[in-house]
Amino acid sequence: MPDPILNLQGVTKTFGGLTAVKDVSFSVARGEIFGVAGPNGSGKSTLFNCMTGIPFGPTRGEIMFNGKRIDGQRPHAIFRAGLARTFQKDAEFPDLTAWETVALGGHYGAGLRGSMSLDAAEEALDLVQFDTSRRDMKTADLSVYAKKQLMIASALVARPDILMLDEPASGLTRPEITALDELLIKVNEAGVTILIIEHVLGLLLSVSQRLLVLNNGAVLTEGEPQEVIRDPRVVEAYIGG
Ligand code: ADP
Ligand code: MG
Repeated sequence: MPDPILNLQGVTKTFGGLTAVKDVSFSVARGEIFGVAGPNGSGKSTLFNCMTGIPFGPTRGEIMFNGKRIDGQRPHAIFRAGLARTFQKDAEFPDLTAWETVALGGHYGAGLRGSMSLDAAEEALDLVQFDTSRRDMKTADLSVYAKKQLMIASALVARPDILMLDEPASGLTRPEITALDELLIKVNEAGVTILIIEHVLGLLLSVSQRLLVLNNGAVLTEGEPQEVIRDPRVVEAYIGG
């Protein structure tokens, strides 16, 4: 792949005797939506952790982002370089309003990336189509979907080149998943490369241009989503796992 935005070579993460991520290599093209699938415990979240350095980088291997090595760099440096993420468990500040939550992200993000925080917060809320009339509601009083929108807006406020999402559809109803699908396409069309881990296969297959499947920490296969998902080894991993 010429000029990938992200390239991993032999990325490995061990916890004592356990190898959670095993010799993982792949590239992500600039502007694509790249899906990561795999059974529970296959190393998906740990792989994201390695990339963002939160809370740790890889034990071994090399990660290139925008042509620069980021493995071993501190999380804020990786974030400043333009790689933002959301977490599997929603970080929530129940007493802040929706606007404050994003503007706070904007304060840190903008400070880190040198842009105008209030403009960026406005832009991020618009991009996720956050209901304007709810901007002054406390985060705790928002719907599950509105919290997801905020979580994504808080990452977008740093105007990242790559947005990484760890199971964003969890807890959402079917219509909400459809709305999330459309939202992700819109964010992507605004120029943000997206990496998405998702348990909800329908969403993953619908939004991803390419799909990587992990099993026991290693890459099982990678390719066009509809082909990948029909691979007997993938079926076996999901049923067996
Ligand atoms: P997934 O996100 O695919 O469900 P994880 O990346 O969370 O999988 O976990 C992969 C494996 O690594 C699991 O066996 C998990 O128990 C282990 N693991 C993850 N984080 C840690 C940690 N901080 N310390 C020890 N083991 C961990
Ligand atoms: Mg996980």
